[in-house]
Amino acid sequence: FVGFIGGCIEMHDRRVAQEALRQNEAQLRELMEVQKRFVADAAHEIRTPLAAIQGNLDILIRYPHIDNKDKLEIIGDVQRESSRLGRLVHDMLQLARGDSGLSFKEDEVRLDQVLLDAWRETERINRNHHMVLTDLPRVWIYGDRDRLKQLALILLENATKYTPKGGTIQLSLKTNSQSAEFRVSDSGIGISETDLPRVFERFYRVDKARHRGQDPGGTGLGLPIAKWIVDQHHGDIWMESKLGEGTHAVVRLPLSEDNSTS
Ligand code: ADP
Repeated sequence: FVGFIGGCIEMHDRRVAQEALRQNEAQLRELMEVQKRFVADAAHEIRTPLAAIQGNLDILIRYPHIDNKDKLEIIGDVQRESSRLGRLVHDMLQLARGDSGLSFKEDEVRLDQVLLDAWRETERINRNHHMVLTDLPRVWIYGDRDRLKQLALILLENATKYTPKGGTIQLSLKTNSQSAEFRVSDSGIGISETDLPRVFERFYRVDKARHRGQDPGGTGLGLPIAKWIVDQHHGDIWMESKLGEGTHAVVRLPLSEDNSTS
């Protein structure tokens, strides 16, 4: 009887082990699929600016005597496309490092100060919009100061990129007993209901044609990086938007225990 019970347990254990193996295999396969798609998308994204650079250089070599104005225009194009390539590679490396478990610092951080830093940096280089800052209450969270600043800069940069000159950009922060929530709001071009759920996908960019040839030169990786940073802080990020009216990028982060004593 003891042998029979022992046999049953062994069979059960083997079944559990096989099931775990199957699940691991499925997860691994899914992970490899995601990785493969990332590489394919990345190659596609890199090919576009590269083709533009090569095409422009071909023209310069084949027609060395075109007038200076045309030459300057072509060189300007090459410069724009190569800095776009640089941004792409930089952003892709960052996401790839994130995928392989890049570690985050874990410090007590004054979120309001980090936001203020990012705000001032954006204000210094942005003369095109009304920048409205509402009072930022003092709030401590647990996390990585540099990454949090990068997160705020991504959202502020998007607000400036997708808001026509003369529009308004706003930053606000509020807290409750568990979390802090900040929003970067703009009165810009907005995002349609169909595009809204996709903006956190890697390389996703809303119809480039709507920028009417004035593509602000994004990589489609800003929001995925923002989401990665928020995930690492166990928070939430989402966008609220109305086409033609504007966008709110909202981030909610858990508070650290220090708030009770500050
Ligand atoms: P990008 O580098 O193209 O800005 P992101 O990942 O940061 O890439 O954003 C993805 C897309 O979401 C953008 O290409 C843009 O179409 C849209 N988007 C992001 N933020 C805003 C905003 N504040 N207003 C309007 N559209 C936005």
